Amino acid sequence: MYIDTHCHLNFKDFKDDADAIIRKSLGDNTQMILVGSEQKTSRRAVEYANKYPEGVYAAIGLHPIHLEDIAVKNDSAEGKYEFTSRAEKFDYDYYYQLAKDNKKVVAIGEIGLDYFHLPVDKNIPEVKDKQQAILKELLLLAHNLSLPVIIHCRDAHPDLLPILTDFYQQYKKDQTKEWGVVHCFSGDQKLAGEYQKLNLMISFTGLITFAKNWDELIKNFPLAKIMIETDAPYMAPVPYRGKRNEPAYVKYVAERIAQLKGINAKEVEDMTFANAQRVFGV
Ligand SMILES: [Zn+2]
Repeated sequence: MYIDTHCHLNFKDFKDDADAIIRKSLGDNTQMILVGSEQKTSRRAVEYANKYPEGVYAAIGLHPIHLEDIAVKNDSAEGKYEFTSRAEKFDYDYYYQLAKDNKKVVAIGEIGLDYFHLPVDKNIPEVKDKQQAILKELLLLAHNLSLPVIIHCRDAHPDLLPILTDFYQQYKKDQTKEWGVVHCFSGDQKLAGEYQKLNLMISFTGLITFAKNWDELIKNFPLAKIMIETDAPYMAPVPYRGKRNEPAYVKYVAERIAQLKGINAKEVEDMTFANAQRVFGV
């Protein structure tokens, strides 16, 4: 069994066929965690997860780009997309109530820092400060709910690492279990080691099927600390590059990791599933 630990079938790209894709994925040996990015998509992730007796889980959270009004436009290796984010004021209680007493909500995410998509008309240091302050509140929310976190980071590792280190020192130091994952990991081996020291996992998307930047890291990093994901609809792997991504394609990420490590793909499938069971309690 595979598990796609990060996909967005709750986004509007799937508004006409999310259930069909969910059923197709489950039929294709693939479970999934649907990840929210603001109130509406978080609630929708929970609604989908509630509909299925097993194999579909939800993460809820407020993504840093949804703290400001930003025209988001992307045309790079990870795919083409365009949308306008509308600023949301973080409402602790909304997310707390959504997660509380629901076993299908397995994480708080995605949350983090994004210095790549910034508003053009605002004071940037203030925008960054606000992202950091809200991230700290969201980390506390996760802690209060005893849930792990799914961290998003774009161009912001030097600010992210100290925040996570402080949080780890204060709340997580004595825990043996990993307490979260840095999703779509973009850093180098040294940075991966820093997150590992904080007892965090890293996860990879279809990006590794066509970009070689992480080959050495993947060869050297312990499989017990790696998760796999699609980030669908974005980041479709080879051979679906440029198309809309979906959970069943997570097997191509597993196959690429197996190839780099010189092991059997089944081993990656089983270990990454066990990793997700341990971290998210799925
Ligand atoms: Zn995502």
